Amino acid sequence: MPSHTAFLFDEMTFWHSASQYALTLPVGGWVQPLAGGGHAESPETKRRLKNLIDVSGLSSHLKIRTAIPAAESDLLRVHPAHYLKRFKSLSDEGGGELDHRAPTGPGSFEIAKLSAGLAVAAVETVLQGEATNAYSLSRPPGHHCLPDKAMGFCFLANIPIAIESAKARFGLGKVAVIDWDVHHGNGTQAVYYNRPDVLTISIHQDRCFPPGYSGTLDQGEGSAVGTNLNIPLLAGSGHESYLEAMESIVIPALQRFEPELIIVACGYDANAVDPLARMLAHSETFRCMTRLVREAAERLCQGRLVFVHEGGYSEAYVPFCGLAVLEELSGQRTEVNDPLLDMLLKQQPGEEQRALQSGLIKEMAKHFNLAS
Ligand code: ZN
Repeated sequence: MPSHTAFLFDEMTFWHSASQYALTLPVGGWVQPLAGGGHAESPETKRRLKNLIDVSGLSSHLKIRTAIPAAESDLLRVHPAHYLKRFKSLSDEGGGELDHRAPTGPGSFEIAKLSAGLAVAAVETVLQGEATNAYSLSRPPGHHCLPDKAMGFCFLANIPIAIESAKARFGLGKVAVIDWDVHHGNGTQAVYYNRPDVLTISIHQDRCFPPGYSGTLDQGEGSAVGTNLNIPLLAGSGHESYLEAMESIVIPALQRFEPELIIVACGYDANAVDPLARMLAHSETFRCMTRLVREAAERLCQGRLVFVHEGGYSEAYVPFCGLAVLEELSGQRTEVNDPLLDMLLKQQPGEEQRALQSGLIKEMAKHFNLAS
């Protein structure tokens, strides 16, 4: 199937700044001040991905677009008015810590609305047939944000806002969200925990963030039991474990659910050099996972697939992982070589670790009634 890929971004999203208010480590005492403010959620991971897409020539094969900010009515389908008011007030005052690990700067409310607007437009672009698939370079990210509480660098639930907007405007039916950001997609899970029309799957590092969370027992409530799947992987899991989790749990779960649209909460922080996690994925892992999802979308929902950018904190390496994803979505290969790949291929888990990781994935597949 020929693939036409839209890429949505806006320079203004890179201007969201939190560095004055929260640091990866609180500076003071024995912590020497960090260069550049030290906040992990830097715009550079995203800007450098866009730059690599441009200099590699891939941009000429993509439909590059921007979008308008999400409308108030779109936000209100997911977030209560009192939360939006609290966020806007803090943003208007110049910023500060909104909730747990969610620092804002001046204008962050408007920029977060734009970030959500990019996701809304990405979904609309695909549903209207203007592109087969789309990538929204949303920033700030969204997957930790609860309806009434910011969390983990996230202020608005970008993906639920986009889904609910599409349901209201286009009558969209069943949607599957696959979250492979290395941290648990707790916000998306919370929004859809009682909703049988949205399948949420999170592959994450066990007990990483929210701290201590695993989640295999949390499978949804009421009529939605079975439509929330958590796949916690052991720290140190690499390429093979990610693909095994995709092939033995995620793809069969998609087939069972039969979505009309697939959305990937695409974080890159499972890569082996990320400062906020301890996994061993690399650019080929993201390329292969994207291929599996793209092929599933072609089988199940006419290729309708939307990626929404989430975390990923290595300024040097995120661009190579993101380029692999966009090459796979668009079917266009550039001349760019991943400069870290040879090294990371040698740093994968040994046989004993792999056997342990594989045993746990097989148990989870059985637990979810997906074992073949
Ligand atoms: Zn993350």
